[in-house]
Amino acid sequence: MSVEKSKALFEEAKKYIPGGVNSPVRAFKSVGDIPRFIEKAKGSHIWDVDGNEYIDYVCSWGPMILGHAHPEVVNAIKEQAEKGTSYGAPTELEVKLAKMIVDMVPGVEKVRMVNSGTEATMSAIRLARGYTKRDKVIKFEGCYHGHVDSLLVKAGSGLATFGVPTSPGIPEDFAKHTITVPYNNIDALKKVVDEIGDEIACVIMEPVMANAGLIMPEDGFLEKVREITAEKGILLIFDEVITGFRLAPGGAQEYFGITPDLSCFGKIIGGGLPVGAFGGKAEIMDYLAPEGPVYQAGTLSGNPLAMVAGIKTLEILKKPGTYETLREKGKKFAEGVKSAAEKAGVADKLCFKNLESLSCVFFTDKEVKDFSTAATSNTEAYAAFFKEMIKRGVYLAPSQFEVAFVSIAHTEEDIEKSIQAAEESFKAIKE
Ligand code: PLP
Repeated sequence: MSVEKSKALFEEAKKYIPGGVNSPVRAFKSVGDIPRFIEKAKGSHIWDVDGNEYIDYVCSWGPMILGHAHPEVVNAIKEQAEKGTSYGAPTELEVKLAKMIVDMVPGVEKVRMVNSGTEATMSAIRLARGYTKRDKVIKFEGCYHGHVDSLLVKAGSGLATFGVPTSPGIPEDFAKHTITVPYNNIDALKKVVDEIGDEIACVIMEPVMANAGLIMPEDGFLEKVREITAEKGILLIFDEVITGFRLAPGGAQEYFGITPDLSCFGKIIGGGLPVGAFGGKAEIMDYLAPEGPVYQAGTLSGNPLAMVAGIKTLEILKKPGTYETLREKGKKFAEGVKSAAEKAGVADKLCFKNLESLSCVFFTDKEVKDFSTAATSNTEAYAAFFKEMIKRGVYLAPSQFEVAFVSIAHTEEDIEKSIQAAEESFKAIKE
C-alpha cells in the first residue's frame, strides 16, 4: 500500500497547520503512522489521495451513522444550498429539527442549536450555573466533553480531586471549580455531594463512556447518579454527543430509562455538517437569552445546510427497523472481532466491549470499568494492531481510547472482510 501522496501532503500541511491537522487525533501520532488524507467517501468506504480504499469504522467520529454521502442527505444539502447557506435569521428548518429532537428525546422539552459538541457542553454548563446560582461542576474521570476550559480536567489520585487543568493555557482558577470522580464509583460521587452538594451546579457525564474506549455504566449506576443529584438540586447533564440518536432514537436516556435535566448533542444531528445542540426541561432552558438572563449566541447557529442534513438524517433513522439493523451489524462486527482474537489465540489478553453499534477492544486482560482500568491497556500493541488492520484496508480509530462506529451502510461483506483482517492482524502482532 503506497501512502506517498498522504505523506507529502502531511509534510506540506505541517508548514501551514499546527501539527498538520485541525484536530489532534487525526495526526495518527498515538499509533505512529502517516495520517491518510481522504479524497472521497461513499457508504461505509473511504478513499485516500493515493487511491487506497478502506472500510471505515471511524465514520467521522460518529456523525456518519447512515454511511457517507447518503444520497438523500446529499440532495437535501444541494437543494438548500441553492436557496442560500446562512441568513442570520430564524428559519422553519430550525423549528422542524427542534421539534423532531423534542419528540424523540425524553428529557428534552426545548432545545437550542449550536455549532459543535464543545459549544453544547460549554453552554449547558453555563446555563446550569446560571440557573442554580452555583459554580462547581462534577465530571467523571476519562469522560470527554469537548475542549471546554473547565472540562479539560482529569482527576489526580484520591477519591475526589479538585481540578487541575490537563492542558496549559487553562488557568487553575478556571479548573478549580471542576471536581473529578471515577466513573462507576457511586461512593466517590456521594462523598463529594455530601460534603459540598450545595455548591454544585451540575454533574456532567457521558452516560456511556465512549472517549476512553467504550465503558458501560454498571447496573444501577445511572439510577443512583440521578437520585443523588435530584436530592441536592444538582442538575444532571447527559453528554449524548456520541450516544444521542445512536443507542436508541432517544439516545442513552431512552435506552437506560433515566431522564437528565439537560442533554448535549452533536455529530449525528448535523448529518456530517457542523452542529451541536443542548436541551432539557423548558423551565431551565427558558433561562437562556433572550427569554432569560444566561447569554448564549452564534452567528451560524441553526445553519440551514446543517439543519436539512440533520432533519434528513433523523427522518431516515426513525424508519422502522433502523436501530435493530444497527444493533445486528454492531454485534456481528464486535463478536466477529472477538472470535478472530480467539482463533488467533490472543483473546485472553484483551477486553471486548460492545453496545449497539459501538464497540472497542482494549488491549488489556483487566475488566475495564473506568478510566484507570482502561489506562492499563497496552497502547503499543493497539498501535501494532491498528497498522496491520489499515494495511488490510480496515480503517479503525488511530487510538486505543476511541470506539469503532458501525453505520447502517456497513454490509455483510464489509464486516466479514474486517473480521478476516482482524484474525490476520491479531496473528501478525502475536508473532
Ligand atoms: N462530547 C462528547 C461525548 C464527544 O465525544 C465530543 C467529541 O468527540 C464532544 C463532546 C465534543 O464535540 P465536538 O468535537 O463537536 O466539539
